[in-house]
Amino acid sequence: MGYTRGLVNQERITNLLMELCATDSASRQERLMADKLKPMLSELGFAVHEDDAGSKVGGNTGNLSARLPGTSGGEPLLFSSHMDRVTPGMGVKPRIEGEYVVSDGSTILGADDAAGLAAIIEAVRVLKERNLPHPVIELGITICEEVGLLGAQHLDYSWFTAKSGFVLDSSGPVGEIVTQAPSSAKLNATFRGKAAHAGVAPEKGISAIQIAARAIAGMKLLRIDSETTANIGSIMAEGRTNIVPETCTLAAETRSLDKTKLEAQIAHMTDSMEAAAAELGGTVEVEVVRSNTGINLAADSAPVTRAQRAAESIGATPRLASTGGGSDANIFNGNGIATAVLGVGYEEIHSTRERMPVAQLAHLAEWTLAIILD
Ligand SMILES: [Zn+2]
Repeated sequence: MGYTRGLVNQERITNLLMELCATDSASRQERLMADKLKPMLSELGFAVHEDDAGSKVGGNTGNLSARLPGTSGGEPLLFSSHMDRVTPGMGVKPRIEGEYVVSDGSTILGADDAAGLAAIIEAVRVLKERNLPHPVIELGITICEEVGLLGAQHLDYSWFTAKSGFVLDSSGPVGEIVTQAPSSAKLNATFRGKAAHAGVAPEKGISAIQIAARAIAGMKLLRIDSETTANIGSIMAEGRTNIVPETCTLAAETRSLDKTKLEAQIAHMTDSMEAAAAELGGTVEVEVVRSNTGINLAADSAPVTRAQRAAESIGATPRLASTGGGSDANIFNGNGIATAVLGVGYEEIHSTRERMPVAQLAHLAEWTLAIILD
């Protein structure tokens, strides 16, 4: 197979992007977007299923899982973009300004992530109109990505047959392939000492603030190594100066591209807090919340090499990248689908200056098509 250039219809995909951007959507309020997408996908031959993730996260819409039967061999592929957007994202009036699709400046544009959705749909439209043989194509179109990857966490992964996936949702240019994203954890600690009169009998007290200070003084923080970071975001204790403080709380986070290093840093921070509490005769309770699994795709893994070859075939420069943030791909990877994040080319996302270069949009659809036809 392989990709033949020039099949994507730039005018059609630009119109589709503007139509999707003009469709109201927000986290937990993706109803109109889902209702717009479902018939489009059905018309292309997808079997579309909406799950009940919405009711689980307090929203009005579920994730859309969709499958297009293959017309050739080859491994099934998963593509994903999210339906929600940040605020202000209602009443978007998209228009073309020079080489870009922009909003009127009173809202975001919503190309994050309508550009990904439009590229997937345009790629499949081309497959259909040219009768190009393709493998099974599965879609995981999610809700609530912007508020903590909530939709992806409620997808039914047993439904998917794809082992390789592509999330169209990175702000790099078309050709950028994000293969690494950190695993992260939050640590919430409560130090407990013993209250006593600070002037009359301080020796009867145990200062929770002192325990926390000793714990922090013994901690490696900020840049731990090239893959690992740690930070204390808040420390709180409030009281009168004449009372030895009984409690003090601390909130910290750590991230690493390497799960073993992440666990080591969590253990180091926890140990430091427990040692300080023991030394000073108090206690500490540490709650560790691992927020998302990271991404660590090998350069020679199937989705990465496929995306690289496809980028070259459309004249884009493939570039492997890592990100400090999270995306739905973190969750897909954690559920056994090796998933890369693709550069979409949108600019200034999460702001009213958000804009989408029309050329990048068409290029993204070409890339998606080339990945399918690889
Ligand atoms: Zn996004």
